[in-house]
Amino acid sequence: MDKGKLFIISGPSGTGKGTICKRLLETDPDLRLSVSVTTRAPREGEQEGREYFFISEERYLQLLEEGGLLEHASVYGKTMYGTPRQPVMDWLDQGLDVILEIDVQGAFQVRENYPECILIFILPPSMEELRKRIMGRGSETEETMAARLGEAEREIQLSERYDHRVVNGDLEQAVAEVRRIMNDERTEGGL
Ligand code: 5GP
Repeated sequence: MDKGKLFIISGPSGTGKGTICKRLLETDPDLRLSVSVTTRAPREGEQEGREYFFISEERYLQLLEEGGLLEHASVYGKTMYGTPRQPVMDWLDQGLDVILEIDVQGAFQVRENYPECILIFILPPSMEELRKRIMGRGSETEETMAARLGEAEREIQLSERYDHRVVNGDLEQAVAEVRRIMNDERTEGGL
């Protein structure tokens, strides 16, 4: 059986990449989303095992040492995130496609170890729009807001090294475009 395809979706928080991934998963039964581990606290409405596995720093370091993470990154200084290796590898072996919703540092790490992966970056229509979207979430203090915007600028610069970039101005259009990219990649792989 053919192996599944590994898609990486990145983009500054507030670009709507989470919503895009959700939509893709709803319509594609052979697609799986990797649930990352993180050392940050859950936001309101987030559920253990759905958005993330929320773990202690100690457990995170243990996983890292055991080689249990496919990639890992510290995103806003102290907060650490990582992709559990085994579920991703199992799904790919079963012929299922997998999405990793991770940051640029993580994406480049995965590309080094797994060059067949496909990198897709979701861009906001503008920095001003991004600021509005992040503020609309209401979960940011001045300090984390500044950190998120600074991080966003850095990520957007690095996104030039991605395979595909999609602007999320209109959600329906962005979902359709990512879906088209994924279908094209699948067809190319199957030839
Ligand atoms: P948030 O705290 O808003 O959920 O996520 C912050 C950032 O961490 C996002 O850019 C997200 O893509 C990234 N992220 C989430 N999980 C992982 C992961 O497992 N690995 C890496 N490298 N980045 C992650």
